Parts: sequence; structure tokens; C-alpha cells
Amino acid sequence: MNFDQRTVTCGQLRAADAGKTVILNGWVHRDRNHGALHFINLRDRYGITQVVVDDDASPELQSAASELKMEYCIAVTGTVRLRPDTMINKDMATGEVEVKAEKIEILSRCATLPFVIDGADTPNEDLRLKYRFLDLRSNGMQERIRLRHDFIKAIREYMYTKDFYEIETPTLIRSTPEGARDFLVPSRKYPGKFYALPQSPQLYKQLLMVSGFDKYFQIARCYRDEDARGDRQLEFTQFDVEMSFVKRDDILNLMEELFGYVFKKVMNYDLPAHFRRIDYYDAMNTYGCDKPDLRFECEIKDIKDIIEKSSFEAYKTILANKGFAKAVVAPKTAGFDFTRKYLDEIAAAAKTYGAAFVPFIKVGADNAISGSAAKFFTGLEAELCQYMGAKEGDVILMVAHESWKKCCASAGAIRSKLGKDLKLIRPGFEFCWIVDFPLFEYNEDEGHWEAAHHMFSMPQARFIPTLEENPGEVRGDLYDMVCNGYECASGSIRIHDIELQKRIFRICNFSDEEAQKKFGFLLDAFKFGPPPHGGIAPGVDRMVMIMAEQTSIKEVIPFPKNSFAVSPMDESPNDVDQKQLDELKICFKLDEEKK
Ligand code: ASP
Repeated sequence: MNFDQRTVTCGQLRAADAGKTVILNGWVHRDRNHGALHFINLRDRYGITQVVVDDDASPELQSAASELKMEYCIAVTGTVRLRPDTMINKDMATGEVEVKAEKIEILSRCATLPFVIDGADTPNEDLRLKYRFLDLRSNGMQERIRLRHDFIKAIREYMYTKDFYEIETPTLIRSTPEGARDFLVPSRKYPGKFYALPQSPQLYKQLLMVSGFDKYFQIARCYRDEDARGDRQLEFTQFDVEMSFVKRDDILNLMEELFGYVFKKVMNYDLPAHFRRIDYYDAMNTYGCDKPDLRFECEIKDIKDIIEKSSFEAYKTILANKGFAKAVVAPKTAGFDFTRKYLDEIAAAAKTYGAAFVPFIKVGADNAISGSAAKFFTGLEAELCQYMGAKEGDVILMVAHESWKKCCASAGAIRSKLGKDLKLIRPGFEFCWIVDFPLFEYNEDEGHWEAAHHMFSMPQARFIPTLEENPGEVRGDLYDMVCNGYECASGSIRIHDIELQKRIFRICNFSDEEAQKKFGFLLDAFKFGPPPHGGIAPGVDRMVMIMAEQTSIKEVIPFPKNSFAVSPMDESPNDVDQKQLDELKICFKLDEEKK
């Protein structure tokens, strides 16, 4: 098609361009008629330029302008002129100028819009996803996709300068248990057999280390067939890294330097040279979770000693049963009342994590205390307030549970709620490392130990001789990178010793035969001089979400699925033709049921 091709973009023109003849291509963002004067805001990826059809324009031009509707795709030829002083728009990069139209060519028309691009009302999520190609035209989505691009570009820049190879690994692989459920792809050539989509490139990046590619990275698509849970997507993107001949701190230092570079480059934001390193148990005890938001304090304290001195029998019984008791202070906040209703909300938040109830103590003048638990602390008022660091107007909130994890998590839920509701959270980005996680978790449902991260992580040396005796005590050479309360990356130093790897498999309930069947290729590779190695995998979607100050990764993924794992746009997952199924020799139990 022949059309008037752009000579400038819609974000480009400035006062110095006045007098030039230009051609713009773009979409009608808004158009307004003032009598015979016609203003068109023309938009493309680079910005918006105001186009004016003057009242003395030719009848052809007037008629072309009057035909325009929102989101028509047009070409405008015209002359750049300075706007009158009173019309300068300081909020617009091109706000000093406008283009006096001489010709308007309609390149394509737009059907009735399901929603106005950048309109006052935000369309609901399914409508946005059904018309994602339109939703992506919005300023917010355009900005976030740009941010995503800049983020990945900066990662690549940095990694190339550090001599990493970018290597692709296959996405049709052997199904291997890696924690989540695999997506399976039927093989046409070998009916009845399946490939799996990778949950991560984990085993392949370890094999690359065996092959001698000692610094690897990849921007990798990963697939996990999980039920919609919070903010997960079935497919997501990881910045996957593996290195040989390294120790834990080499990897942490590399990531700190890399994210320092990326945040500076992409957002002009300075990160500290090093991120705080917090032991897993300290994080749980102090923040009630292993992904603490460090943008506010409200630290959790253990109140065992003071409970023992008190007359709080319910809590004393929990402690006597080897339980735990903790407390958080809700700081006095201007304009915020700790009403009964709010304290009930706090209790409800804690209850989902296990705490049966949340006794509270309101602190008055001179350590005078009141509230549901005050009567148990008679004579201990000053000690309690001092220990908790609570001042007049603050409220002490308590939780207790037989399970340490549930006690921490209940207190953590209160801490998070206070952070949000009392607006304690500082702006900016606060990173930390959570280190030394337990290597195993007990799977209550299946009655056996399993890997807390994955089965290829190295136990810390001091636990190696006696791993099997008490798997719950074993700490791994594991680390998570956390930012603003989100887990952004997980990684570990890996096992490279075949016998140790087999011991881990056994503890995780895989017999030697089963391990050989499922992970034979890795065990085989470990027979051939594997180097010591380790790695990490920051989540691209999550990092970009945090940088864009969003709370859903869908806001930074061009074409995400909805919360029901469906794409309202292409309607996947969908039925396929019988011919395709026949080729794969697949028939469904569903068909049987229908008969
Ligand atoms: N493969 C791991 C994951 O996806 C990350 C790693 O250990 O490098 O969580």
C-alpha cells in the first residue's frame, strides 16, 4: 500500500522544529471540534502530538477531519508551528508546538471501541485481556513494556561485559520432578510418550557446567501447571544464571552489582553496594516471613519471658506445650483509631495463619495499660512497655501458637497489615538476601521429607556426615533475593558429587532405581568430572512488576492468562481438531464418560 510514510514520530517535535514540513503516522487519541477548528491528538509509541485543522482549511481537509474517530490510524502531512503562549502544554514533551495539517490520509478505520484508550474508567480485567492488543496501546502498558525491554536489555549488557555466554536450553524436555506439575506435550512420532515443558532450565544449566561453559545465563521461559494462586502465571520468564568454581558470595556479589547497574541504568535509582544478609530463622522471628518488606520497621519480639512472669494462663499453657509467643507494636498514627473493628480485622488476618486470637494492650500515659490482655500484666506494665518499645498511643498485639512457623507467620500477617494500613511503608526499593534456609521440608500429606528448594542444592558442610539423622535440622547453601516483600530470586550452590546427590534423592523418597530412571542423565554426567557450581534465577516478571510499582505480574506481561488460566483473547486452552488427536493417538476419558 502506498501511503504518506512518517518523517518524524509523535514524540519528537520541539520548538526548534517550527517551520518544518513533516509527516506523522499514528492513532487518533482524542479529537475535539471547536467550530471549524479541529484538534487531533495523534499518538504513537513515542508520544502525542497535537494536530490542528484550521478553520480556513480546504473542504477536502475539513471533510477528512470530520470523518475521524478515536483510534483511526492516519497519516498527517503538515507544518510545525509554535503554539500561542497561552496554549503551551508543559506536561507534554511536544507541548510547545502543534502541526498545522495540510493533508490527512486515513490508513485504517477503527470499529466501536470496547473501552477508551487511557479513558477515565479502567475496564475490567477480562475485557482488558480480551482486547489486549488495545489495552497495550494505553500509556501505562506502553511504559511498562518499555521498562521490561530496558530491564532485559540492561541485564544482557551487564552479563556480556562479565563474559557470560547466553545459551538456550530446550523447551521440549524429559518430564522430571522439580517441585511443581509439568506441562506435557504428546509426541506424534512416539504415540503414548510425552515431552514436558521445563519448569526451569535447572538440569540443563547444570549440564552446561559439566560441559565447561562456566558462566551461563539465559532469559528463559518456564512453565508450571499450577492452580491459579495469587499472582502466578502458568508461563513466566526467569533470568537464569549458573557459574562454575564459585562460592555463595560470588553469586550474591554478582547479583548485587548487576541489579545496581540495572536500577541505575533503567530507573536512575541508586541501590546500596551490598544488600543485607539475613539468616532464615532471624527473618522468620523478626519479620514473620522469609520475604520481609524492609521498607518499614514494626519488628516482632519474642515475649516468652514476660508471659512466664504474667498471669496469662492461656499463653502459659501454649508455652508449656513447647509453643511460642510473640508480639508486635502498632505505632500511634495520626488520624488512625485502633477501634474494636480494626482490632478484629487484625485478629482475622492472624487467624488465617494459625493464631486463634490476638490479645491486645493499649498503652496510655505513664505506661498505664488497658485492653483485652492488660489484666494479666498487672505490676509488669513498665517492663512490658519498655521491652516492646511501646509508647503512649501504641497498641501491643500478641500471638501464640504451638508451632513456631505458625506463630511467626501470624505475627508476620499482623506486621504486613500494619505496614499497609498505617502507611508505614517508605517509598523506594529495599533489597535483602535471606540465607541458610533449611534444606528439607516435611510433606505432611505424603509423610516424607522433600527438598525445600530443589533436590540439587548443597547441604552446608557441617551437616553432610549426618544428613539422614535429622533432615529437619539440615541447612542448605541456599539464598533468596527479596525486594519490598517479594521473593525475586532463588538459588543455591549445587551438589556435584554423585553419592551425595543419591543420598538427597533417598531422603526425598526416591529409591536409587527411581532416581536413575528420572535423573539418570544428570547422575551420568556427574561421573565425568563435574565442577563445583551454583546459580540463581531472578524472576523477570516479578522484578519488572516491583520496578513498575504494580501488584500484579499481569501488568508487565504483554499477553498473560487470567486468574482462571484462560486467555480471553485467543480463548486458549481450546478444543483441537479430531484429526490432530488421531495423529497423536489420543482419546479422552471424557469421551468415554459421554458415551
Ligand atoms: N531453578 C531454580 C528455580 O527455578 C532457581 C535456581 O536454583 O537457579 O527456582
